[in-house]
Amino acid sequence: MAQSQGIPSAVVENTFSEKIYCANCSNCKLVRTPVGNGQYQLRVRCSAGMWKKKLGEEKIYKYFTVARRAQDECPAYEPMGDPREFLKELKKTLPIKDEIYPG
Ligand code: SF4
Repeated sequence: MAQSQGIPSAVVENTFSEKIYCANCSNCKLVRTPVGNGQYQLRVRCSAGMWKKKLGEEKIYKYFTVARRAQDECPAYEPMGDPREFLKELKKTLPIKDEIYPG
C-alpha cells in the first residue's frame, strides 16, 4: 500500500484534493463473494459501516469501481498515505471490469 512521504496525510488531502478517496482508507476492505463452483468475485465494503443503501442495508461495490468511491467528508476516514500516489498505483492494477476468479 502507499506509504506516507513524511507529509501528514491530512495536509496532503487538503492541499491536493477536496475529496476523500475510500480506496486510501484502512476501512475500505476487499472481500470475496462466492459465485458457485468455488469461484468468486471481488467486492469492497466499508468496515466502518458508512456505505448504506436508502433503506439502511450495507452497500458493497464491485472492486473494479473502487477508485470512484469518494466522500466529501467522512468522520471515520483512516488515511493510509498520500492519496495521489496511492490512486495512481491502484489504477494501474485495477481490473477494467467485474472479473470471476477461480477458487
Ligand atoms: S470510513 Fe469513510 S473514507 Fe473510509 S471507506 Fe468508509 S466511507 Fe470511505
